[in-house]
Parts: sequence; structure tokens; C-alpha cells
Amino acid sequence: MEFWREYRPRTSTDSLAMGITMTALPIGYLHAILWVTPALYPLDERYSEEDLISHQKWRIAHWLSMTYLFVSIVADIYLVLTTDSTCKSLTLPDIPQSGWAHCPYCNHPAPPRTHHCRTCKKCVLRRDHHCFFIGRCIGYFNHKYFLLLLLHAMTASFYGIVMSYKLLVFLNGGFSLALLGTAVFPILLWMLQIVPVHPILLIATGCAMLFTVMCGGLLAMHGWNLYNGQTYWESQQKLPQTRGLLHNIVDLMGTRWWLIILCPLLSSPQPGDGMHYSSYKSKKPVSTRNQDSVNNKTARKMAKEL
Ligand SMILES: [Zn+2]
Ligand SMILES: [Zn+2]
Repeated sequence: MEFWREYRPRTSTDSLAMGITMTALPIGYLHAILWVTPALYPLDERYSEEDLISHQKWRIAHWLSMTYLFVSIVADIYLVLTTDSTCKSLTLPDIPQSGWAHCPYCNHPAPPRTHHCRTCKKCVLRRDHHCFFIGRCIGYFNHKYFLLLLLHAMTASFYGIVMSYKLLVFLNGGFSLALLGTAVFPILLWMLQIVPVHPILLIATGCAMLFTVMCGGLLAMHGWNLYNGQTYWESQQKLPQTRGLLHNIVDLMGTRWWLIILCPLLSSPQPGDGMHYSSYKSKKPVSTRNQDSVNNKTARKMAKEL
């Protein structure tokens, strides 16, 4: 009950988007393990003993891979939700320090790169955006789990496309150009009996396509921002923030960033506290005076935004 009160969606948009996420995820997983995999590797008397052993092995291999991706995605969502990036538990100084702003909503000093979220009603450290699919703000400490979520969800959706097409070709008795149209017009192709297979399989293939494109596009955008060391808002405002590629990755993803890609539940401590940042590293050499001027401009824009 306490968990629900803390992490429940705050707006109707959040409720709708979270509802889609929380429904599509288990349905997609169950569809893949209970229907697609057994249909693709049948265990009936039409097959020789050798084929049956091979089908059984492939079933187990796919079930394990699918379960691994499903558990990783659930862990990513849980960690995005429960990892606090807000200023709520921080002890902030009474007087703003140099480069800090003041949040008029929370009535406390706001560290650099902090923004107030009007949905969460809290100040968020290095705020990137409010994700309505999870109903949570993405900030300094949970951004890494959000990136992992996009990566794992895109991998799982692409896996879904490969498996669905494999099954469509298998049920269709071979490849045909009409099969390619299933991503865009699944119901129409089924109604016209152009692809004579179950409509749920066609819809699932279309959904897998949609999720792959959506997660892939978001991952590319966030990957580019990570390369530049920027949040979404900073990239829109063209505020330079990079401290060097490796520094950007370690600062956001933690020191064991390569390990949490394989298992998000492992720890990958971030070196910063979300409140203090070193000066950005220009790709071109700049004088100290110009550097100060850029830092002051950044602070002014942030204060204005708050
Ligand atoms: Zn605030
Ligand atoms: Zn928010």
C-alpha cells in the first residue's frame, strides 16, 4: 500500500501510458513463451526423434533468453521507479551557492542542472524529462536504468520481430512479400486472407515493429545526449556540457557501466553527488574567461527555466 502511494501515477496521461507498459510487457512475454516458441518448435509425432531433441533444445534456449530479457526489463522499471533522483532526501544549504538557483515551488536552493517537475512536484537533480510510461522523472541517479530499459526493451522487441517472422514464414509455408506488410496492415492482410494466419500473431508482429522503432529512436537520441554529456533540455538549449566521452558515461552510468548492461541489479556507483559538476570540456580550446562566460550563461538559462 505504501509502495502504491509513493509510486502511483500522478496524472491521467501517466496512468494511460503506464497501463500500456504494464499490460504489453507480460502479454508480450507470455505470448512469446506460450505460443510463438512452442508453435515454432512443435513436439508431435510428425517429427523424427532427432528433430524432437533439437526442437526441445531450441525451446529451452529461447525460453531462457526471453526470461532473461523479461526479468531485466522488470528490474529496469523497478529501479527507475525506486531510485530517487529528487532533492527530497538531500540536506541543502540555506543560502544558494555560486551557480545555484532558487526553486520558487519547493522554496529551497536548487543545485546546478536541477529542474522542478510540476507533475512530480519535486526538484530533480540533473533532470532529463518526466517519463509518463513509468510515471517518474528521469534524473541523475535513475537515468542509467532508463537507458538500460530502452536497450533491453529494444532488444526484446527486435527478438520478438525475428521470432514472429520466423513463425509467420513457417505457418505460411514459405516467405512471401505480403508477410512484409504485416507490420503496417496486420488486420487488413488477415481480413483479405492474404496472410492466412491468426490475427493475434499479425498484431503482435506489428506491435514488436512499433516498439523496436520507438525504443531504437529514443535510445539513439539519449545515446547522442550521453555522448555530449547533456540532458534533453540542455540539448534543446544547445548548452555545452561534455566532460569527455568516458567521463560522461561513467558520470551517468557509474563505474561498472559495462556490467549493468548485462545485469541491472548489480551495483555501479556514480562518482558524483548530482549537485556538483566539474566545468565542461570544450572540443575547441577556450580561454578561462570564455569558459566562465559559458558557465554563467548556463546558470542564467537554468535559473530562468526554474
Ligand atoms: Zn522544486
Ligand atoms: Zn516528474
